[in-house]
Amino acid sequence: MVSCHVERPLDDAAWDRFDRLQRRRPGGFDVIALMRPPDAEHGEAEEPWLERARAAAARVPFGLHTHWTSPTHARPTNGDPAARVRREAEWMRERGLEPRYFCGGGWYTDEAVRATVAELGLVDCTSRRGEPSPGVLPTTHSLGSLARAVLRPLPHYVHAYFHDYDLLDARRRYALVASLAVLGRRAEKI
Ligand SMILES: [Zn+2]
Repeated sequence: MVSCHVERPLDDAAWDRFDRLQRRRPGGFDVIALMRPPDAEHGEAEEPWLERARAAAARVPFGLHTHWTSPTHARPTNGDPAARVRREAEWMRERGLEPRYFCGGGWYTDEAVRATVAELGLVDCTSRRGEPSPGVLPTTHSLGSLARAVLRPLPHYVHAYFHDYDLLDARRRYALVASLAVLGRRAEKI
């Protein structure tokens, strides 16, 4: 499986690249958008965000990617991390968006966050290793490690991720699309 951490949902260039990639389905993969709600404290407006999130969620199940501190600082610096996850999932649901996956920003998690994610019925993608288990689909490969992995015998389970801004770099974009094409030919999708 393949997911994208949408770090800059209101950046037109990054969104345009992501939108095109998701519609193109490289390698035949549904690219899951993992998104954080707009951050009003940091001047992000709700309307354009909603339009984009709804477009992404209409194509493929989507997910919540909580940034606890700010758009550019993912990990928590204060407050109650689990409460924020619950607030953000509820915020999405109130607007008709139904997140199905969760990935903690900066790969952060703790016991209360894990319990909240499970209680909200989200599939947790925060773990960086291991096999899928009920409610858990670890994120195993970065763009770089995916590019190397597709040249060798494939592991049993691959969940690749990238960032929307990776798509702004032509070399990284090409590497991703080429790797997914190879992976798509070789893999059974889940
Ligand atoms: Zn992030």
